[in-house]
Amino acid sequence: MDLYEHEARELFADHGIAVPEAEVVSLAKEAGPAAERLGGRVVVKAQVKTGGRGKAGGVKFAADAAAAQLTARQILGMDIKGHTVRKVMLARPVDIEAEYYVSFVLDRAAGAFLAIASAEGGMEIEEVAATRPEAVARILVDPAEGVTPAKAAEIAEAAGLPAATAPVIQALYQVLVREDAVLVEVNPLVRTTDGLIIALDGKITLDDNARFRQARWGDTETDPGDDPLEVAAAAKGLNYVKLDGGVGVIGNGAGLVMSTLDVVAGCGAEPANFLDIGGGASAQVMADGLSVILSDPDVKSVFVNVFGGITACDAVAEGIVQALESVQLTKPLVVRLDGNSAARGREILEDRAHPLVQQVTTMDGAARQAAVLANAG
Ligand code: GDP
Ligand code: MN
Repeated sequence: MDLYEHEARELFADHGIAVPEAEVVSLAKEAGPAAERLGGRVVVKAQVKTGGRGKAGGVKFAADAAAAQLTARQILGMDIKGHTVRKVMLARPVDIEAEYYVSFVLDRAAGAFLAIASAEGGMEIEEVAATRPEAVARILVDPAEGVTPAKAAEIAEAAGLPAATAPVIQALYQVLVREDAVLVEVNPLVRTTDGLIIALDGKITLDDNARFRQARWGDTETDPGDDPLEVAAAAKGLNYVKLDGGVGVIGNGAGLVMSTLDVVAGCGAEPANFLDIGGGASAQVMADGLSVILSDPDVKSVFVNVFGGITACDAVAEGIVQALESVQLTKPLVVRLDGNSAARGREILEDRAHPLVQQVTTMDGAARQAAVLANAG
């Protein structure tokens, strides 16, 4: 789960990293009083789980409380790379002398954490990393040793950061480990004109597998994003991701669904979604999945691709037949059943003889048929 900047800011503060004084509001009229409490002049920052807010106009200075309110009104509701701004953070501005970049990320291949740091932080860090990789230091951290004061000093020195950043680098590593994060990033970490080191912006990705031991996030919903179909699917507990094409895809098992997307694309059509109905494949899950997919106006045909394993194909076929009772099928459905009890499953669908349902026994053949139907529709 990615955290919002204001959530990351709180975790930084908990671990002794200095952050600007700030408040979060979701209504423009709350921004004035909040700015007043912060001393009048503030930075108004869109809270969205994507980078590049500054360049997109999501980070703006306001000279006083009245301006803060207007600016908040402007930024709230703004679309930043497909994310609607629902909250803004108002922060007491700091006077920046230098902007640095510091992050820790889990490097699965190395079985270690990787510290990445640069003395040229700020909004152009991607450009710096792409054109002058030597300006970005990358240092592996052995998780058994962690970041000692000496290691933190080594990271700071390698990146050309002042020695005063070392304690912050060490604290940032504590955020990573203690909060069960797989990524913590501060960009920019700034040195103020008074010589203070402050985390001005933060990004944290938590390890979802560790949520059970992080009571703090126990009841925080992973927000499903802004796509209404994804929101509807999440409400039904479906593992659904909206894509751009015209072939709706339902499969059992994430691996099978991913290869189904590839095969559909290989047949000259684009998949409309990813939907893994998992191992159970009950009638209810099939009905829920079909209803979400059929309500997508881009969908021209639906491909149900099932390989019977522990859940036998006859149970899946029963699920499809029952789903057809509750869902009004409006688009052609191509079904491929294979594996455990495939013959029995195909018979069940044959007997139902729905005019919009057709069966193809191979995955390639079924994908081709679904693609032809989508391209014709
Ligand atoms: P991002 O564009 O999403 O990474 O948003 P940031 O929070 O990193 O802000 C973008 C840029 O705005 C920073 O790199 C700073 O240059 C500038 N900025 C943000 N907050 C302040 C502040 O308090 N004072 C000053 N002088 N600049 C700020
Ligand atoms: Mn930033």
